[in-house]
Amino acid sequence: MELTHPLVIAGPCSAETEEQVLAIAHELKQTDATVFRAGVWKPRTRPGNFEGIGALALPWLQRVKKETGLLIAVEVANANHVKLALEHDVDILWIGARTTVNPFAVQEIADALENTKKIVLVKNPINPDLELWIGAVERLQKANIKNLGGIHRGFSTYQKTTYRNNPNWQIAIDFKNRLPNIPLINDPSHICGNRTGIFDVCQMALDLQFDGLMIETHTNPDKAWSDAKQQITPARLDEITVDLRVRKSNFEEEKALKNLNKLRSEINIIDKQIIEDVSNRMKIAKKIAEEKKSQNVAVLQPNRWSKMLEERIKIGTDLGLSNQFMENLYKAIHQESIKVQESIVKK
Ligand code: PEP
Ligand code: MN
Repeated sequence: MELTHPLVIAGPCSAETEEQVLAIAHELKQTDATVFRAGVWKPRTRPGNFEGIGALALPWLQRVKKETGLLIAVEVANANHVKLALEHDVDILWIGARTTVNPFAVQEIADALENTKKIVLVKNPINPDLELWIGAVERLQKANIKNLGGIHRGFSTYQKTTYRNNPNWQIAIDFKNRLPNIPLINDPSHICGNRTGIFDVCQMALDLQFDGLMIETHTNPDKAWSDAKQQITPARLDEITVDLRVRKSNFEEEKALKNLNKLRSEINIIDKQIIEDVSNRMKIAKKIAEEKKSQNVAVLQPNRWSKMLEERIKIGTDLGLSNQFMENLYKAIHQESIKVQESIVKK
């Protein structure tokens, strides 16, 4: 797949009724979206939820293509889905996050799609495992499927975070570095799980030079039969794509600026990680303070501290950081840690 500008794939989480599908598609026709997505077979975490209309909805999508000219995309999870999608002229087939985790299922799909000229997109597996994601792409490549792409939709975590699925941007960056010729699309909807975060995730993806966006869109998001909280209206999609900074200027400048933004985004990610790590370190220091308190031990253990400082400085200087910087850094961390521990022990 060769792309010259970010591709926009939009449409509902699920096809619900023929009217719903057509209404959304006609509104999307007025936006930057060129591909219409709709889930027909829905993988749901718990039973008893709406599991998709099934093959009955495929003719609705054909009507979308005929009436709007949008390409149509569906999720496939087994060989039978592939057969039905191909029979109904689906243009883009994507493998969902819950399927990518299973090499048997991916292989079955690869076999069913052998030699296809269709576009096939592979969502990242729900667990943060780059090899599993790349392995799925390789199975498709081995089946002589040439028009491949990845979709970054974030990763499950047991701990609740502000995201529905943690973006773990570094995994997407590594995917791009390992497979530089495979376009990568970002799915902010399943990353955020809400409407308010969508813009920032899209912008981050563009700054990291993703090749496209897949955004869940519904004319009446609150009433959607699945993923209601994260779907946006076509009008909101339009605002988002207008506001996104996709840089333009002369070619050289644009390239330099893109590189700069990519590097800055990488720094943003690392800084966030550093801050989270320092915060986690402080939480452990607090637990140590509780122990010290119960054992009636002094907060500062000078011997341990000077040995620790020496070790940390060595680790840093071995990695090319200066002695002075490492000393300043660890003194600052240690001072804060002592302060926090003191306040606990004193209580
Ligand atoms: C979807 O795109 O609606 C979907 C089910 O996504 P995922 O496979 O990323 O959970
Ligand atoms: Mn969804």
